[in-house]
Amino acid sequence: MSGVILQRLAVCCRCSCQPPPHNPCGATVFRQSGCAPLRVSVFRNMEYFWRGRTQNNRELVESLKQNGSLRTNRVADVMEQVDRGLFVPPNELPYIDNPMPIGYNATISAPHMHAACLELLSGHLQPGMSALDVGAGTGYLTAAFGMMVGKEGRAVGIEHIPELTHQAIENVQRSRAGPLLASGSLSLHTGDGREGYPAGAPYDAIHVGAAASEVPQALVDQLKPGGRMVIPVGDIFQELTVIDKAPDGSLKQWGATSVRYVPLTSRQSQLGHN
Ligand code: SAH
Repeated sequence: MSGVILQRLAVCCRCSCQPPPHNPCGATVFRQSGCAPLRVSVFRNMEYFWRGRTQNNRELVESLKQNGSLRTNRVADVMEQVDRGLFVPPNELPYIDNPMPIGYNATISAPHMHAACLELLSGHLQPGMSALDVGAGTGYLTAAFGMMVGKEGRAVGIEHIPELTHQAIENVQRSRAGPLLASGSLSLHTGDGREGYPAGAPYDAIHVGAAASEVPQALVDQLKPGGRMVIPVGDIFQELTVIDKAPDGSLKQWGATSVRYVPLTSRQSQLGHN
């Protein structure tokens, strides 16, 4: 067994995340390297696998700091306060850096993607600011936004699968962001996120958790002058795109990284009823 290294190559990402090559079947792919005996006990592989994993939220945050995904204390603090274990379905592993299925052909994004989006938006998630999370899924990022903008701010999540919205509300209630939900400064709604959430507009920060073929105009309109949107754009090849709206209303956009997210689409198409 000594000398065997199991190296993670890629995870399938219906949602965001690992460098290519993507494994379309959804499982994590492993490669053996090193000059090791080929007969390796499955159980010993599993033991290695488990020992290499982060076991709780604090360890997860620490590993994200160490690998450079978390660059600022502010974002590290919020990810430490919002325990991913409360948002990942009970039969999945919450503290490894992978996306996980949450049902309805959706996933919770990998922790390093949550970290990347929070880092990109942090300047627009100051206390008292307003944020919109489109495709809220588990509600994890809505909760993190709520913690960052605080009780004087406003965090709105919109999700088009009603069952996921209900689950997200339960998740947030159990988390440190629960009081914000109770007070109304954080809210979660069911609806088509391509229309944004006009009642709470304009927003300092807009995050879209699903990939759009084109940036929806309603979201651009609901972005405050001086605000920032982070949205994956593309179909097969997707770019995590940052759109800054200047005070005069003009737009500048740039690509932060290549990603793989579930599509921003209609409910029927996501559920396979089209
Ligand atoms: N940030 C979320 C990502 C969930 S995956 C998390 O980490 O938990 C993307 C989500 O976008 C899914 O829950 C999916 O149901 C939702 N979605 C896709 N198209 C949508 C649309 N048109 N309106 C609202 N939500 C949408």
